[in-house]
Amino acid sequence: MGKVEELLNSVDAIIWEWDVREKRYTFVSQQAERILGYPLSQWQTESEFWLVHLHPEDRERMVAFRERLLREKLEQASVDYRMVAADGRILWLRERVTVVVEDGKVTKLRGVTMDITEAKEAEERFFKAFHSSLTAMAIARQEDRKFVEVNDQFVALTGYSRDELIEQAPEKLQLWLPSPDQAEKEEQLRRQGEIREWEKRLKRKDGSVRDVLTSIVAIEIGGQPCLLFNLLDITERKQAEAILRDARNALEFQVRQRTSDMETFVYAVSHDLRAPLMALEGFAQALLEDYADRLNKTGRDCCRRIINAARKMDQLINAVLDYGRLSYMELTVGAVSLERIVDDALQLLEAYLTQKDARVIVTRPLPEVVGHHALLVQIVVNSLTNAVKFTPPDRKPEVKVWAEKREGIVRLWVEDNGIGIPVEHQERIFQPFTRLHPETAYPGVGIGLAIVKRGVERMNGKVGVLSEPSKGSRFWIELPAAKK
Ligand code: ADP
Repeated sequence: MGKVEELLNSVDAIIWEWDVREKRYTFVSQQAERILGYPLSQWQTESEFWLVHLHPEDRERMVAFRERLLREKLEQASVDYRMVAADGRILWLRERVTVVVEDGKVTKLRGVTMDITEAKEAEERFFKAFHSSLTAMAIARQEDRKFVEVNDQFVALTGYSRDELIEQAPEKLQLWLPSPDQAEKEEQLRRQGEIREWEKRLKRKDGSVRDVLTSIVAIEIGGQPCLLFNLLDITERKQAEAILRDARNALEFQVRQRTSDMETFVYAVSHDLRAPLMALEGFAQALLEDYADRLNKTGRDCCRRIINAARKMDQLINAVLDYGRLSYMELTVGAVSLERIVDDALQLLEAYLTQKDARVIVTRPLPEVVGHHALLVQIVVNSLTNAVKFTPPDRKPEVKVWAEKREGIVRLWVEDNGIGIPVEHQERIFQPFTRLHPETAYPGVGIGLAIVKRGVERMNGKVGVLSEPSKGSRFWIELPAAKK
């Protein structure tokens, strides 16, 4: 075997020469046997070997191709076709053919044939995905940016027909509206071979404009550098986002407006209501001080009752305002420490607890919850005050505080050794101004538990009580646990 022949045999392709007059192969390199499985002798002896083993569907096209080659004496031509291998497999081949002309006549064809089955199969799989994709996709040649393939979604998105898109000059279509970052993105495509999620505006055939999220990837199809476009229509999403943004802004404005309206109202009400109250109290006081000698005991008693009633009314106004504020005030919750909350509450109650000779036992450590620090301090203060307050006069108040944590929820318990609450009242007591006892037995206005309940609910929690008359009560509040 000569050096050249050895070289030809080592190339991973079939190199061949075909005699036009004799209609037979004068040379076929050894790779032919490996690629297609037929012995070399069969190539050279079987009449019309190539035609016989061509895939039937490609036969007509290939005969025409060969005829054109001979007729037009093309110097170089390239073609893809299928052949049936010896074992029945169908192979995709890519062939480059040269025509040999002697004395003005074509005498020989010479060619190089490569096995491109794998690449073709991958390409087929790719095109299958391309055409069944739910997003709009198109392939453009890199060199002139003309579309070579588009899927149905792309046709629908642009409003142009397939024919109006394929092989059309991009300047003629004017599909894209100019983007401010065009140059930068083109540069990125050149350097990295891809652009991801580029927000662009596309003009449809009817002139309407769509917002699209575009990804562009440089790929090779049939040996040609191309660009693959992947487009997602986000027009509706963007519109919805804009509407949502406007709505949120409007709502925030309203809430702020309403909060400030309420503050103003509350201030005015408390001021206007308090003025006559102070007058009542002031004049009754004046009567007591300046006209004491002209009043008998009943008269003085009346004055004192007026003063007490006015003070009570003042407390009630404050209670109503506190409770009301809880509904409209803006509340931002976050992770807060129950340890600190209970400590702050105990500190605020220090004098009261000493005066009542009360003992508060806290089981530590206490976990963190999602809530509002100041509001929680208020809630714990109210619960502890009640626990100490509603104890028979002959019993030393003893209060226990502890917490349970499970499944993302924290339950804080406040247990007392007080008078307890009959079952039928256990729900009622959380409503504003519900009291089970006369003022003389246990002072108060009946707003403490209502604030506990509404406050906890505003922090997405719950409250409840377990109690038996004369055996004490266990109040609980439940809040989301803070994530660690
Ligand atoms: P106030 O303490 O001003 O009366 P609350 O709203 O705090 O108002 O309580 C409402 C009622 O619930 C109280 O009047 C009392 O009858 C009952 N109560 C609250 N806490 C306790 C408790 N720890 N033990 C017994 N009764 C309680």
